[in-house]
Amino acid sequence: MTTSFARAEVTIDLDAIRHNLALLAAHAASTGAATMAIVKADAYGHGAVPVARAAVEAGAHWLGTCSAGEALALRRAGITVPLFSWLDTADADFESAVAEGVDLGVSSLAELERVAPLGARVHLKIDTGLSRNGCPPAEWPDLVRAAAASKAEVVAIWSHFACADEPGHPSIELQAKRFQVAYDIALEAGLNPLRHIANSAALLTRPDLHFDIVRPGIAMYGLNPVTQQEDLRPAMTFRSSVVSLKRVAAGESVSYGHTWTASQDTNLALVPAGYADGVPRLLSGRMDVWLDGKRRPVVGRVCMDQLMVDCGNDTPAVGSEVLLFGTGEKGEPTAREWADTLGTIDYEIVTSMYRPRVTRRYLGVR
Ligand SMILES: *Cc1c(COP(=O)(O)O)cnc(C)c1O
Repeated sequence: MTTSFARAEVTIDLDAIRHNLALLAAHAASTGAATMAIVKADAYGHGAVPVARAAVEAGAHWLGTCSAGEALALRRAGITVPLFSWLDTADADFESAVAEGVDLGVSSLAELERVAPLGARVHLKIDTGLSRNGCPPAEWPDLVRAAAASKAEVVAIWSHFACADEPGHPSIELQAKRFQVAYDIALEAGLNPLRHIANSAALLTRPDLHFDIVRPGIAMYGLNPVTQQEDLRPAMTFRSSVVSLKRVAAGESVSYGHTWTASQDTNLALVPAGYADGVPRLLSGRMDVWLDGKRRPVVGRVCMDQLMVDCGNDTPAVGSEVLLFGTGEKGEPTAREWADTLGTIDYEIVTSMYRPRVTRRYLGVR
């Protein structure tokens, strides 16, 4: 038996992060591309600073964050590699970002005007078809000309794929073509920028689209966005433990709404983790946990603070470890399994594990 007494605890294996990043950086290096590890949203719920350090140790040349604030937090933690951030509100602290050497994404003339007078290093974003941020192609010639004439230093042009996780999707070719057109226009404007467009999926499946820098996120956390086999190791494990066991008679119902009724006398293990701790209530009656060497079903509704596991005639000891999701190596559920059941993606599962009541523990700290 593994005893843990964890209430709700997420373990992050930094050796897995290093292994994954090294694998991705080797893919990138095979085409001469540098690697920008994406650590936005607190490193997809894994903890930005420890993950950033591990990624740099394993060969990341750059780190990417969503906001300048996230990038500045990495600087304050003593991280010195080039940083890039791309989505801020107009009142963000661009002065500190520029002073701390954070490169900024620029999608419009208005954004350029905010940061160019500061002498910012900018990466101009062309919207090649995601229709999110990024400069519309019609406005691109004006943006590159204005950038070339400004005090900003244009480091790169970049874009982002809509369907890279569906290899062969026709939008990929279309976006690549528009990216090339945008590059040619930048060259005509007298710029000589780097180029980057590949997320994890494109990094793994489209070496021809690596260009100068690749931007892997999800794959570094060990979650594979494509079906192609890769030696990736999920870095996050979510565990709790048994706090009590009780015998329930056949015919008794369990938890709010009495959605489950015992068909025979059975032992129910009480686990002190609920939807406040990141166990989605929508998984009620649709999830297993790994407890005492096997998968066992969660029965009845998942509550705010607790859930119940049907153990049949087994009697797991109080303190027994309960794996909610992990690498899947033993047969325990994975974040991917939760996502599939819920009709979402594993990105959302791991990213939502950053919660005040969930403790985080790191393995492989150097
Ligand atoms: C999140 C993000 C990435 C990483 O995407 P993954 O699918 O997690 O590899 C790369 N670039 C940008 C702009 C992003 O927002």
